[in-house]
Parts: sequence; structure tokens; C-alpha cells
Amino acid sequence: MYGKFQEYLASELKAIDEAGLYKRERVICSPQSAEITLADGSKALNFCANNYLGLADNPRLISAAKEVMDSRGYGMSSVRFICGQQDMHIKLEKAIAEYFHTEDTILYASCFDANGGVFEPLLGPEDAIISDALNHASIIDGVRLCKAVRYRYANADMADLERCLQEAQAQRFRIIVTDGVFSMDGNVAPMDRICDLAEKYDALVMVDESHSAGVVGPTGHGVAEQFGCYGRIDIHTGTLGKAFGGAVGGFTTGRKEIIDMLRQRSRPYLFSNSIPPMIAAAGLETFRILGESDELHTKLMQNVEYFRDRMIAAGFDIKPTQSAICAVMLYDAPLSQKFAAEIACEGIFVTGFYYPVVPKGQARIRVQLSAAHEREHLDKAIAAFIKVGKSLGVIK
Ligand SMILES: *Cc1c(COP(=O)(O)O)cnc(C)c1O
Repeated sequence: MYGKFQEYLASELKAIDEAGLYKRERVICSPQSAEITLADGSKALNFCANNYLGLADNPRLISAAKEVMDSRGYGMSSVRFICGQQDMHIKLEKAIAEYFHTEDTILYASCFDANGGVFEPLLGPEDAIISDALNHASIIDGVRLCKAVRYRYANADMADLERCLQEAQAQRFRIIVTDGVFSMDGNVAPMDRICDLAEKYDALVMVDESHSAGVVGPTGHGVAEQFGCYGRIDIHTGTLGKAFGGAVGGFTTGRKEIIDMLRQRSRPYLFSNSIPPMIAAAGLETFRILGESDELHTKLMQNVEYFRDRMIAAGFDIKPTQSAICAVMLYDAPLSQKFAAEIACEGIFVTGFYYPVVPKGQARIRVQLSAAHEREHLDKAIAAFIKVGKSLGVIK
């Protein structure tokens, strides 16, 4: 049987490669940090990690994980309702709820799972999900697993959201779902206006804080802090795999009864292993660090400002950003790939994105800033951008 299927896969893979869409993965032989070492021993500066607060190699997280490996072992070998949990799972859920000013939290193996398991237990065919067109793939998949009626509004477009809300009055319950920060432009969802519309049209509100938590808001606590929306957002989902340490793990945090229902009915929670004790312990240490001072968030924001201002001064076209994501617009798809390849030769890792990941004619280089970056890293990256930008005729 495999013969024909193999031929089919081989030709599909060839087509992916010929379209320039084949994904090749680098091998890193050092901790994730501002500077990384590759398999061939060469070094590069990393501007494409979600390591926003630079915690991925933080010594306190590493020693918290090691300590708990020694005292509690390696893995849990089960799901929580069958076999139980460690105290640090519960403590971490509490710490996340405190961080977001919510009532309770449920942990998942990833935010992909949190989003995959949030809709189906809460909503049925008589309800409506109203989703931003640029929401993350895991939200799209979660919505697919639920029988609720689907509405889609143009990215952060409040008039279009209002149109959906009016149509969705036909359903019993309505929920508006949005990413906090959209990962391609770095723009922030207008949560205050979303909450206003939710109140006007009697809808619940859910936000995925994966790229906003630790980054957005005066002290980095996410979109509710940024827009003064505490108490108005019913569900936040998020990841421990980006700003909060960069390992694995996801969560849903929000209203008590919602979290309770997820513990009873959410399939990725009920039928998938709980995160290892060491991950929970390191996660707890993350929230301890963030509770002690704003230092990392402040440094991240200074880095964003420094990089953006100098790039604009050099003549680059930068999308307005309110996050740690900086989109350097090139518009042309082949140019974006050439640019990323040439700047990699200068020892700077960034990602070139083009259609279908971004709209046609909107190709770009995405730069992700981190609190791990020092001034010299930023200066080196800016100099490399200017060098490659001039040689490819992007700037004068
Ligand atoms: C990265 C990301 C996820 C997935 O998080 P994992 O914990 O890695 O599964 C979900 N939603 C959004 C918006 C993301 O950016």
C-alpha cells in the first residue's frame, strides 16, 4: 500500500520545496539566549525567539527545576484526575491567577491544548463564537472542535465585530475570542473596545495572552493591565513557552465556574499527561521573579524602543508595534527570503514571512526583541540590517 502513498507524499513535498515553503530547522548547541551556538560551532545573535523576558536560561529557573527533579523525580506518568498532582501544580495555578487578577487557573501541556480544550466543554450548537480573522492556529482548531456557530471579524476591526455581534444575537451565548498580541504585526487587540461591545451585546470575552503576557501593559501583565480591563475578561489562555521561561506548558485562567467546568470536561486536560514537577517548579519561580521587580519588563521595553527608533531613523519601514514584535516591511516575498539569508550570514537570526503566513504583497522580516539582548547585540543587529538593507536596495 505504501508505494502509491509514498509517491504522492514525495511529489507534495517537492511542490512545497519548489514553492519555497519547505521548512528547514537549525540545530542549536547552546542554551537558548541572546547569543546561541550552532552545530558547526559558529555563533549567532537570536532575534527570532519568543524568549521575551530572557528567562529561557535563567539560573534561578534552572536550579528550581533541578531541585524538584531531585526531590520529586522526573515525570507524573498520568493525568491529574486519575493519579493526582504535586503541590506545585496547584501553587502554579494560584500564581498565574494572581498574576492575571483572575479567580482560578487550569494547567495544560501547552497553550495549543488550552485553546483546543476551551470551547467544546463550554459551548454547544445553540451558541456563537466570534473570532478575530488573525487568531492563532490553536484557536482556529479549538473552534473547529466545538459545534457552536462561527463568526469571523476582520483583524481588530470593531465595526466588523459589532456586525458579527448583531448577527449572533440569534444564539443563546456568545463569546468574542482574540489574540492579545497578533504575532505577525505585533499589534495589540483593542481590549477596552472589545469589552465595551461585549457588554453592549451580551457576550463573553476570551483573550490568548501568549505574545502579550509578560510584555504588554505598564508592568507587563498583559492586555487587561494595558487597557484597564481587569474583571471584564472572562477567559485568558497563555503559554509558559514564551515570556514565562520558554519551556512548555499552557494555561487557561479566568472565572471560577469556567475553570471548574474545564477540569471536569476539557479533553486535553483529562486525557493528556500533566506537566512534569520540574516545569511546574520553574514556572512558580518565574512568577516569583516577576513579582520581585519589573526589571526584565522595563529592559525589554527599552530594547524595543531603542531598536525601533534606530531602524526607523535608518530608513526602514517598521509596522507600528506595541509589543516586542517588530515587523520590518519589505513587501516582496523573494526579497524577504534573500534578506533573512543574507543577514544570517552576518550572524543575525530573524525570520522572513510571506504569503500565505501574511497577506500577499506584505512580506516582511519579523524581529523579536528580548530582555536578554544587551545594547551591543542591538547595535550589531541594526548595523547588519543597514548593511544588508543597502546592498539589497531596501534603504539608501
Ligand atoms: C505560541 C502560541 C500558542 C501555542 O503555545 P504553546 O504553549 O507553544 O502550545 C498559542 N496561541 C498563541 C497566540 C501563540 O502565539
